[in-house]
Amino acid sequence: MTDLEELKHDLETCFGTSCGFCERGCPVYQTLRIKTISMRGRNRTMLGLLEGKFDITPSVVKAAFECTLCGNCDRWCSLKNTEHTRALREYLLKHGVEPLKEHASLLASIKNYGNPWFQPRSARNKWKKGLDIPKAAPGKQDVLFFAGCTSAVMKPLMASLAASAKLLKRAGTEFAVMGQDEPCCGSTLHRVGQAEAFEKLERDNFDKFKTLGIKKIVTACPGCYTTLKKSAEKLGEDIEVVHIAQEISDLVGKGDLKVRRSTEKMTYHDPCHLGRLGGVFEEPREIMGAVADYVEMPNSGYEARCCGAGAGLQSAFPKLSRELAQKKIDEAKSTGATTLVTCCPFCETQLRSVPGMNVVDLMELLLKATDDVSG
Ligand code: SF4
Ligand code: SF4
Repeated sequence: MTDLEELKHDLETCFGTSCGFCERGCPVYQTLRIKTISMRGRNRTMLGLLEGKFDITPSVVKAAFECTLCGNCDRWCSLKNTEHTRALREYLLKHGVEPLKEHASLLASIKNYGNPWFQPRSARNKWKKGLDIPKAAPGKQDVLFFAGCTSAVMKPLMASLAASAKLLKRAGTEFAVMGQDEPCCGSTLHRVGQAEAFEKLERDNFDKFKTLGIKKIVTACPGCYTTLKKSAEKLGEDIEVVHIAQEISDLVGKGDLKVRRSTEKMTYHDPCHLGRLGGVFEEPREIMGAVADYVEMPNSGYEARCCGAGAGLQSAFPKLSRELAQKKIDEAKSTGATTLVTCCPFCETQLRSVPGMNVVDLMELLLKATDDVSG
């Protein structure tokens, strides 16, 4: 939990500098053009709250939550702005603000079902039907494939998990899964300001992983990746956490997977949690280069624009969220590519929710490219 008081010096620095560079790449500010909803405005609000100059009003709450925590404002500034916004959310909840009603419903689902999608725990087993993957048991495996709830319980996304598992098997990697016992990684709790619940969950999760003797977690979800990786670092746990794109690009590089390259022009969307917030830019591109005629978008890598789904924006501000998705699709189309590839289930669903482009998962694309060779 970050106390807003600890950030006071940084908030004063922003107030003194007031450069506004953070507004350049902010997808929300660039769409709404409301100063209080830029990072500069939000930092001023936080300082005002700390100095007793502002009260907590509905506008302050809106400014705190109308943000995808995409990290683009950190690109232009020495301050950890994304952490500031998260800290503000925690501060508001600690000072009596009720969770937004859309977030309250997600939180109830996580509490009752262990996922934010109102799906029973048994739904986490569906994606692996017929794949003959062992269930994790104490001391029986080193590598855990952590499916993540979004792909595991949402039917259109299950194929991406199956593709990841098939590719791992095809490359000879031994791994197990937790199936319906797989816990929530806590990403949603963390990002909507539920600090106490998140801290308890991350401790419980790593106790479970240690009981199973897990040494490495491979996950297909960028949100799970950054959350579990940062939790492992924070808790001092010696468990490596990687995203499937990192694991698989290594196998492609070593020649463990043979790939046939398509001549179709495709572009790649960096999920914020994998790229800017997770530091994984190269590995997905290595796979893209191996499977397609791959072109970059005008804003890519560290400067990639958010798809508009994250940090509770999609549920609480759906109109704005869709506008951000449409901007992303328009940018992808401007490259002349016919397919937009990503490796985040949340981005995938979001980008498919607006018209204009064929959106595919990187692992499904790679599996097809390896099928083309073996077939
Ligand atoms: S948040 Fe950083 S980039 Fe934005 S106004 Fe403040 S100091 Fe400048
Ligand atoms: S995290 Fe992203 S959406 Fe939020 S203020 Fe920063 S750039 Fe804007």
